Amino acid sequence: MSMDAGRIAGTARIVVIGSGHSAGRLIGQLKSLGHRGQIVLIGEEAHPPYERPWLSKTMLTEPEEPAIPGVLSDTDGVTHLPLRRAVAIDRAAGRVRLDDGSDEAYDILVLATGLAPRRLAIFDGMEDRVLCLHKLDEARALRARLARGGGLALIGAGFIGLEVASSARQLGLAVDIVETAPLPLMRALPAALGRQIADLHAAEGSRLHLGTGLQSAETEAGSLRLSLTNGHRISAETVVLGMGGTAQDGLARDSGLDTADGVLTDATGRSSDPQIYAIGDVARCRSDENGQNGIRLESWRNAEDSAIAAAAAILDAPPPPPPGAPSFWTEQLGQRIQFIGQPVADGELWQSGEAFRPGYGAFLMRDDCLHQAVFVNAPKVMRAAREAFRRDGRIAADTLSALGFRRI
Ligand SMILES: Cc1cc2nc3c(=O)[nH]c(=O)nc-3n(C[C@H](O)[C@H](O)[C@H](O)COP(=O)(O)OP(=O)(O)OC[C@H]3O[C@@H](n4cnc5c(N)ncnc54)[C@H](O)[C@@H]3O)c2cc1C
Repeated sequence: MSMDAGRIAGTARIVVIGSGHSAGRLIGQLKSLGHRGQIVLIGEEAHPPYERPWLSKTMLTEPEEPAIPGVLSDTDGVTHLPLRRAVAIDRAAGRVRLDDGSDEAYDILVLATGLAPRRLAIFDGMEDRVLCLHKLDEARALRARLARGGGLALIGAGFIGLEVASSARQLGLAVDIVETAPLPLMRALPAALGRQIADLHAAEGSRLHLGTGLQSAETEAGSLRLSLTNGHRISAETVVLGMGGTAQDGLARDSGLDTADGVLTDATGRSSDPQIYAIGDVARCRSDENGQNGIRLESWRNAEDSAIAAAAAILDAPPPPPPGAPSFWTEQLGQRIQFIGQPVADGELWQSGEAFRPGYGAFLMRDDCLHQAVFVNAPKVMRAAREAFRRDGRIAADTLSALGFRRI
């Protein structure tokens, strides 16, 4: 964008669809960079932007409902339209159609629509006791159900499912985890770490049903009876679906933007239409490092980084430093577990410390290069990993031995 265009962008009418984490951070950043134009925030939820990670953690375990941190503090000049869903984009006219029949004109449009959690038709009609955990209202409903006690069945052993399992065990509920893959977190972690996580959840008292699916579900005397494809049966008062989600890119696709499980963007979040950006979980970012297929990340860090990069591009401000290797954290098994980088096939796993206890570190190496680091309250390991990722990923053998790592 030229300087003149940048000045125009400083007063542009910016419409943001989706009122989640990345939307809130984007608006805050636009304002702190001096944007003076009107901003319209369209969100189907009743709440202003808030941070979701707490929904599967303290929200479920604290005796009093905790305040969930908001993302947007300065709402001056922002028109928030809660409980409104955007249903179509007319790119030729530069307008967004809403579900109440009204429409909003934009100079710049930002898609921050996140994910839609996967659901299972097998549970149709059982929605009062079969919950997803994506929104604050769903977390409140789950909190109320967990407070009643009884059994909890989790469908899917991804991060959210495992966090809910730990939270429910902390509250003393009986927990069953059903996962079609042979191990938890198969997409996110090397198998050896998935095995350790499975063993630790079992030691915490959860019953794991791995490598099996759901055959049928029925209600019986106030409980749900689930039949698994391996022939086992489970009884639970509450079911949580933790099977991940799909990018909410339908609006973009229907309006002719380039999409591929997410809205394809450049490193600044710009889509195939220069007036439209996509940020957060819904964006699939192409860059020199990510390649032409791009990468779609689902994390707090990416919601922040992508929003900050897009705000700078929209206002023609200097770009922020590149975000570096993707990072993520989870809280389960009584620990805060941190991750940097991405899993690779055929990697070598090096470990130090006791699995998933404070001081623990695991490095996934290939060709002397670090691809993924996992650690729990291990500042030296974290520094070594960050340092390696800042360079070219290479780690000297004496650094590994100084950290007490051994190959497993
Ligand atoms: C329970 C839970 C726990 C998590 N824990 C962690 C964690 O520990 N660590 C971590 O790094 N990340 C975690 N995450 C992930 C992180 O919260 C997300 O990556 C982040 O919220 C993505 O931000 P976003 O703005 O892309 O989407 P979201 O925050 O999901 O917001 C999208 C918003 O858009 C709205 N919307 C969608 N379509 C429309 C439409 N057509 N019209 C209007 N509104 C629409 C949705 O209702 C939603 O409000 C967690 C997520 C969840 C759900």
